[in-house]
Amino acid sequence: MTQMDEARKGIITEEMKAVAKSENVSEEFIRRSVEKGTIAIPSNIARDIEAVGIGKGLRTKVNATIGTSTDILDVDMEVRKAKVAMENKADTLMELSVGGDLDAIRRKILSITNIPVGSVPVYQAAIEAIRKKGAAIYMDEDDMFTAIEKQAQDGIDFMAIHCSVNKETLKRLKRQGREGGLVSRGGAFISAWIVHNEVENPLYKNYDYVLEIAKEHDFVISLANGMRAGAIADSTDRAQVQELIILGELVDRAREAGVQTIVEGPGHIPLNEIAANVMVQKKLCRDAPFYMLGPIVTDIAPAYDHIVSSIGAAASASAGADFICYVTPAEHLALPFPEDVKEGVIATRIGAYVGDMAKGIHNGELDLKMANARKKLNWEAQFESAMCPNEARRIRNERPPADPDTCTMCGSYCAVKIVNEWLDDASTDVFE
Ligand code: SF4
Repeated sequence: MTQMDEARKGIITEEMKAVAKSENVSEEFIRRSVEKGTIAIPSNIARDIEAVGIGKGLRTKVNATIGTSTDILDVDMEVRKAKVAMENKADTLMELSVGGDLDAIRRKILSITNIPVGSVPVYQAAIEAIRKKGAAIYMDEDDMFTAIEKQAQDGIDFMAIHCSVNKETLKRLKRQGREGGLVSRGGAFISAWIVHNEVENPLYKNYDYVLEIAKEHDFVISLANGMRAGAIADSTDRAQVQELIILGELVDRAREAGVQTIVEGPGHIPLNEIAANVMVQKKLCRDAPFYMLGPIVTDIAPAYDHIVSSIGAAASASAGADFICYVTPAEHLALPFPEDVKEGVIATRIGAYVGDMAKGIHNGELDLKMANARKKLNWEAQFESAMCPNEARRIRNERPPADPDTCTMCGSYCAVKIVNEWLDDASTDVFE
């Protein structure tokens, strides 16, 4: 029985209890939300992991993607990247390897992680077709379902499946054109396959079979957004909106089948379009958890795209997005190294936290603790309230002040110290 089926029977599962505890909400709220499909808990029946809830009323979650490429195939580095992501408090991980022994890498990553792990099964189907038959367009329909089945059996907790890239969306895409083309790898494989074979996407045509596999293993379907814009100039275009309508219909069908879903969103999108995108997506997908990829809010800052995306994450979370895929400084340039993973996770966590303050998920309690610690010039308390205490401590220790109360920014002219001398002194009344 899936989490959704159990929720419908009024059962509160161990996973629901764990999510309620970590989010400080009632177990019944989680059960009702899983029942409605507004919260998803990715947890394959084959895995024993820390349950993570994604959706309405919960803290915005952060995903880190890792995985080999055809140029850089270093499995040990991917293991380090997974560990760095977890050390820096990523909530979930996506294993997106496209180079080397894909089964072995996936199983290795699953064996060292205790957070939900996601995948994109069409990568494996396409890459195996390229290796055996010379091109992704020679994938069999069976190859696509075999990859899903195999990854489900291995314990993948959520899968990005490209069911909504169909003839209708491609017709719209072709008719309107694109300044920045198509940037979804899975979307590219599937669209090339449809165009070459002149038949409908099997993942769309046989969606009921996808649902059957998901139900058997209770993984969450992350309905992939193959038409997401890869350039600000293409944001919120007709192809994206056409696909979104189909995504909404696929959410309905998954709920009927008792399968949990998450819906992927943009992509590259200007700041002023984020709130509208979240609103329309939530409306058409009946409040399904919304997974923003980034988003990237300007195209012109490669090497700093983690900052670009942190801004997008803050705006998305404040508008109601539930799940954010990180972006690293290497985005658009190269395969990320472990230090890029660290920067990406932290930048996205900051964006999500800022958005959650606006969303009312937290009341700025930590910010208040930090403000009080700063006023008291209590450095240890400041580090305790910091999102990244080690980095904060490193910077201070590298440049020690002459007066240990202050820091080297203002030194003897520390504004806080000067004002503290009279502000909280009951014997001092400046107006008498
Ligand atoms: S020295 Fe300046 S920056 Fe440092 S704590 Fe004092 S007021 Fe703040």
